[in-house]
Amino acid sequence: MNSEIAAALRGAARRFATGVTVMAAEGPTGRHAMTANSFVTLSLRPALIGVALTRSGRMRAAVEQAGAFGVSVLGAGQEHYARHYAERARGGETALVELTLTGRSPRVPVVPDCIAVFACHLWSILPVGDHELVVGEVAHCVADDERSAPLLFLGGRLVPGEPALLTPS
Ligand SMILES: Cc1cc2nc3c(=O)[nH]c(=O)nc-3n(C[C@H](O)[C@H](O)[C@H](O)COP(=O)(O)OP(=O)(O)OC[C@H]3O[C@@H](n4cnc5c(N)ncnc54)[C@H](O)[C@@H]3O)c2cc1C
Repeated sequence: MNSEIAAALRGAARRFATGVTVMAAEGPTGRHAMTANSFVTLSLRPALIGVALTRSGRMRAAVEQAGAFGVSVLGAGQEHYARHYAERARGGETALVELTLTGRSPRVPVVPDCIAVFACHLWSILPVGDHELVVGEVAHCVADDERSAPLLFLGGRLVPGEPALLTPS
């Protein structure tokens, strides 16, 4: 029964289009990054976002060690980053740049030329079944002017989205 509902959930979730992000942290043992589409905004006051992570992955440990992380929202032309940071045997975190900010923003690695960035302090890590929800308090975020198209994940495929309409709705 459990595996039946898991398969049905996986199938139905394929119909839910999401954006694609790269989460990254700079811990004492180095820089680590991974592709994630589970990014969600959780709260405005305080400003909280979340990413669901596989328990056994390296990203969870990296975030906990660093105490801070960056989330980069990928644009339509950045599929290569999405593929690269989802590979198990990956390196190349040097492709990321450090978002240098003033004030209480943490120093976090981000994808160059992405369409939005969230710099977060680690707020908490909550167990959620076979994943863990990493909750970040957003210290700083920036976004482009919405002229560029986002990268989307739909039906198990990475697809380029449309640029946001510039006319007010
Ligand atoms: C569009 C897209 C969206 C995604 N969204 C998410 C998301 O929201 N959340 C998420 O958790 N993942 C997501 N993934 C998958 C994720 O990017 C990859 O699984 C990535 O490798 C996870 O990084 P990590 O550092 O957490 O885990 P890694 O350390 O890279 O490990 C990945 C998996 O492989 C296993 N593993 C690692 N090394 C070995 C080994 N030597 N032998 C056996 N098993 C091993 C780990 O236990 C883990 O289950 C997404 C992938 C894509 C393409």
